[in-house]
Amino acid sequence: MANVPEMFGSMVFNDKKMQERLPCATYKALKKTIKNGEPLDLSIANAVANAMKEWAVEMGCTHYTHWFQPMTGVTAEKHDSFIYPVGDGQIIMEFSGKELIKGEPDASSFPSGGIRATFEARGYTTWDPTSPAFIRDKTLYIPTAFCSYTGEVLDKKTPLLRSMERLSSVAVRLLHLLGKEDVTRVNTTVGPEQEYFLIDKKAYDQRPDLIFTGRTLFGAPAPKGQELEDHYFGAIKTRVAAFMNDLDEELWKLGIFAKTKHNEVAPSQHELAPIFETSNIATDHNELTMEIMKKTAEKHDLVCLLHEKPFAGVNGSGKHNNWSISTNTGENLLDPGKNPENNLQFQLFLAAIVKAVHEYQDLLRITVASAGNDHRLGANEAPPAIISMYLGDDLGALVDSIIQGSEYVPERKKEMQTGVDVLPDFKKDTSDRNRTSPFAFTGNKFEFRALGSSLNIGCPNYMLNTMVAEELSQFCQELEGAEDLTAAMKALIKKTLTEHRDIIFNGDNYSEEWVKEAEKRGLCNYRSLPEAMEHYIDRKNIDLFVRNGILTEAEIRARYEIELEQYAKQLRIEALSMIEMAEKNILPSVIAFVKELADTALAKKALSESYSVYPESSLIGKLSEGCEAFEKKTEELRVAVENAAKYREDSLTLAKYYRNTVFALMDELRQIGDAMEQRTSAKFWPYPSYGEILFGV
Ligand code: ADP
Ligand code: MG
Repeated sequence: MANVPEMFGSMVFNDKKMQERLPCATYKALKKTIKNGEPLDLSIANAVANAMKEWAVEMGCTHYTHWFQPMTGVTAEKHDSFIYPVGDGQIIMEFSGKELIKGEPDASSFPSGGIRATFEARGYTTWDPTSPAFIRDKTLYIPTAFCSYTGEVLDKKTPLLRSMERLSSVAVRLLHLLGKEDVTRVNTTVGPEQEYFLIDKKAYDQRPDLIFTGRTLFGAPAPKGQELEDHYFGAIKTRVAAFMNDLDEELWKLGIFAKTKHNEVAPSQHELAPIFETSNIATDHNELTMEIMKKTAEKHDLVCLLHEKPFAGVNGSGKHNNWSISTNTGENLLDPGKNPENNLQFQLFLAAIVKAVHEYQDLLRITVASAGNDHRLGANEAPPAIISMYLGDDLGALVDSIIQGSEYVPERKKEMQTGVDVLPDFKKDTSDRNRTSPFAFTGNKFEFRALGSSLNIGCPNYMLNTMVAEELSQFCQELEGAEDLTAAMKALIKKTLTEHRDIIFNGDNYSEEWVKEAEKRGLCNYRSLPEAMEHYIDRKNIDLFVRNGILTEAEIRARYEIELEQYAKQLRIEALSMIEMAEKNILPSVIAFVKELADTALAKKALSESYSVYPESSLIGKLSEGCEAFEKKTEELRVAVENAAKYREDSLTLAKYYRNTVFALMDELRQIGDAMEQRTSAKFWPYPSYGEILFGV
């Protein structure tokens, strides 16, 4: 392997390269923009564009692209070459500040939720100087934001950037009030842990369900699943290790801090965790990571599945969004310090987050809702659909003592004795990890665990940032002008924690008792996307985004439409894929097998009337019954999909119809199909089995 420090970031127009290649004044002006979010002028953009182009051309690039994150859920790019005619059939390689700053992709085919009519096809992409440009496949990639001709936000990056600025300004305001005048900027940081499946390309190619929908729509369970728990943290297989090494190298070249890799719970499931960065860069890097995972897998004749639930009966894949807030002076605002009981600043931020999660629990649920993630939330593998917070024993005790006005007795770190002399003893963490909580405090950050594996993390993060910004700004208003600041702070913390303690739950989130208890506490339990999404446009949620300058009401309504439309489309594709698999392959295969059984039985009888036709007749009976039920159910499903047209007018009604009618029928059809798979000769069954897919690498 190459020299890692040398390789790291070699494909990124990073700070070091900017400093080397830009005139000193230009570099300083650009840094100011990046650090403090100040606007940039065109002369600086011209100089930056030129330096970027020279570097890119030296690296063999011929093209550049504005890279953006539309509402499709995947990134988009359109490549332009650097060539510029200079007469006489000659060209030079050119790239202007204007081209760097603004692009004009034809945007008519990106989802807009009705904001933009197709005749107003124009959209703009705008350079995001806070996320560095990079090179992939001989193209210079420029991270950009995407909006319509009339200025409406059409992407996932813009609200994230706005939310970061908003949170920064209110947090700085609060910190100044507390006397920290040297703080000028506060950043949110994120470290997303990414789960994925890796399967053999040959098996994948034979599964239309995986190809069209990313998940298996049929498939009887393999004799072995994850029950032995022998895959979790198990030794990594040679082929997988080769993939992981390649992946690390590709990510490192792009300046992505790929740090930890291991096998996950389900067979063929793995995880990659990076070191955290600012939310914006972490989001861009997570999008890149997912893309590069897929591309790298191809090189190894593997396929990387990022769907939340590729296989029934074994764990699906999620993403843990580790989130914190830190100042430009290097202080992590969620670090409780040695004496959290005296750390009013920490307590204020904690109280703001508790209040935010309680008041906007519905938004946190909404932001992780997707057709894929619906299979996980609430099943015993991922946090439930009920949002609550885990603070751990120490912080829990602190909160209790604040509410009750009693003395806080910390459980100071205890020495852990390994009992083996050659092993060093070490200090135990003061809180154990509660793996069942959707939103857990883990020492100096919160871990939001309900995200699906394929989600763009920009969305949960802009929601989180916005709701916390809202609470902090209310705190500022309450504390500014207080006569006795310390007393006012203490009172505010106590009042807030008391009013919002119902969102805190330190027990087992997977238990039935919690569902009942949560209901008593009045917490939301939205089991599916349509149920959750309905509340996206509740007045309080629209007000939150509008008041904090993140999205307009029209933009929120557009997003609501897009989410519901995409959900209905996804389920429609799944239903149609099932119908096609059922009719074109499964039914004919089972019938052919039945024919073979019947032929065998007839041949036996022809030899001698006394020959028993068992087991053929028994199997023929069961499979014939199966075929009949299967055919009828397929027909029912087809009619149900056709009937969906009746509900087209209203996207919420349509999404609910798909969930309650179409999805329910799909489930029933699958059960009949899977039972037949178990009885049909592997020679006849048209698709690779779960055993072959999950244990095939
Ligand atoms: P685990 O939760 O698996 O035990 P760690 O606690 O080391 O592992 O970290 C998990 C993730 O949290 C990593 O991606 C790490 O970079 C990230 N992380 C650590 N500190 C912060 C922080 N201050 N802000 C955001 N993410 C963080
Ligand atoms: Mg974790």
